[in-house]
Amino acid sequence: MEIVILAVVIALVAVGAISGLVISGRRKKQLPPSAPQSTPTITAPPAEPHVGDEAETPREEPRRTIEEVGLPEAEAPAEAPDEAAAPAPAETAPEIEVPEPTAGRLVRLRARLARSQNSLGKGLLTLLSREHLDEDTWEEIEETLLIADVGVAPTQELVERLRERVRVLGTRTPDELRALLREELLTLIGTDFDRAVKTESGVDTPGVVMVVGVNGTGKTTTTGKLARVLVADGRSVVLGAADTFRAAAADQLQTWGERVGARTVRGPEGGDPASIAFDAVKEGIAEGADVVLIDTAGRLHTKTGLMDELGKVKRVVEKHGPLDEILLVLDATTGQNGLVQARVFAEVVDITGIVLTKLDGTAKGGIVVAVQRELGVPVKLVGLGEGPDDLAPFEPEAFVDALIGD
Ligand code: GDP
Repeated sequence: MEIVILAVVIALVAVGAISGLVISGRRKKQLPPSAPQSTPTITAPPAEPHVGDEAETPREEPRRTIEEVGLPEAEAPAEAPDEAAAPAPAETAPEIEVPEPTAGRLVRLRARLARSQNSLGKGLLTLLSREHLDEDTWEEIEETLLIADVGVAPTQELVERLRERVRVLGTRTPDELRALLREELLTLIGTDFDRAVKTESGVDTPGVVMVVGVNGTGKTTTTGKLARVLVADGRSVVLGAADTFRAAAADQLQTWGERVGARTVRGPEGGDPASIAFDAVKEGIAEGADVVLIDTAGRLHTKTGLMDELGKVKRVVEKHGPLDEILLVLDATTGQNGLVQARVFAEVVDITGIVLTKLDGTAKGGIVVAVQRELGVPVKLVGLGEGPDDLAPFEPEAFVDALIGD
C-alpha cells in the first residue's frame, strides 16, 4: 500500500514538473520571435543619408519596423525626425515643401564629394609623402592631376610650385604636406572669385537668371534645385520653361516649381523659346517676384542654330532689362567633352557662372580648375546628387578639404 501511495506521489510530481516545462516553454514561444532580450533599439535612419554610411559595419539584425518588433507605437523614440519611416498623415502634410537651408550644404554633402574625389587628394598626399621624391614620383603626381582633369597648364603650374616648396621645406611631416597641398590647391581654384549667383537686378524688377547647357547635363534639374535654393533663402521665384525641344522638360520644371510654390510659365511643345522666356519675365514683373529662372534648350546641332536660339532668347528677355546671370551647366563626368561644350556656349552667350553637376559620380574634380581657366568665370554651384537639395554653393575651402581630408 505504502508502495502504491509512493508511486502515485512520484507520478504526480513528475506530471507537475512536465507541465511546468511546457508552460515555461509556451511562455517563451509567446514572445515575439524576433524580440531581442533587451529593449530593441529602433534606429531612425539619419535624416540626411551620407554616402559614407554605406560602408558601415553591417548590423547583426536587419533593422525592423515598429510593427515587426511588436512594440506599441508610443514606444517609438519621440524625437525620431524620420520622414521616410513615419510619413506625416496626408491631411497634415504641407503642400509646399520647405527646402533645406543653403548655408553649409557643401559641408553636409562632403562625404559624397570626398568619396568621389578620393583618388585625387589621397593619391597626391601619398605620392608627396614618399621619402625620395624622384623624377618618377613627380611624373606620377603630374599624371594624377591630369587624370583628374585639372588640365595641362594648371597641372604644370601646380607641380612646379609643389617642387619648389617641398625643396625649401626639406624634411616633411604629414601635417606640413597636407597644409602645403591645401594651400596650393586653393590657389589653383582661386579664393577671390565672387561666387554668389547674382539674382538681384538692382532695380525694381526681378533678377533674371538664364540657365544654359547641353541637354542631359542636368540643366532642368539644376534650374529646379536652384529655385529651391532661392526659396530656402526667402526669395519668390517664377520659372520659365523655355526648353521646348525636350518633350518632358516643361513638365519636369513645373513639378519642381510646384513643390516649392513657384509658378512655371510654359508654352506648347516645340513652341518659341524666346516668347516663353519673355512671358516668364513679364509674369515675374506682374507678380512682383524676386527672381525669374529661365531653363533653355541645349541642342548642339549646329553652332549657328544654338547661337540663333539662345541669342534670340537673350535679346527678347533683355527687352525687359538686362540678364543678371547666365549659368552654364556642365556635367563633371564628361571631362574634356565638357570643356568643348563650354567653349561653344561661351562663344554664343556671355557666361557669368558655371554649375558643375554630377560631381558625386566622378573622381575628376579637377574639371573645376580646368573650366574656370577655360572660361575665366567661376564655378558657382555644384551638383552632388539627384536629391532635391543636392545642389550646393561652391566653396573652395570645403571642396579642397574634401579632396585631401583633414
Ligand atoms: P537636362 O536635359 O540638361 O535638362 O537634364 P536633366 O535635368 O533632365 O538631368 C539629367 C539627369 O541627370 C537626371 O537623371 C538628373 O537626375 C541627373 N542629375 C542632375 N544633376 C545631378 C547631380 O548633381 N548628380 C547626379 N548624380 N545626377 C544628377
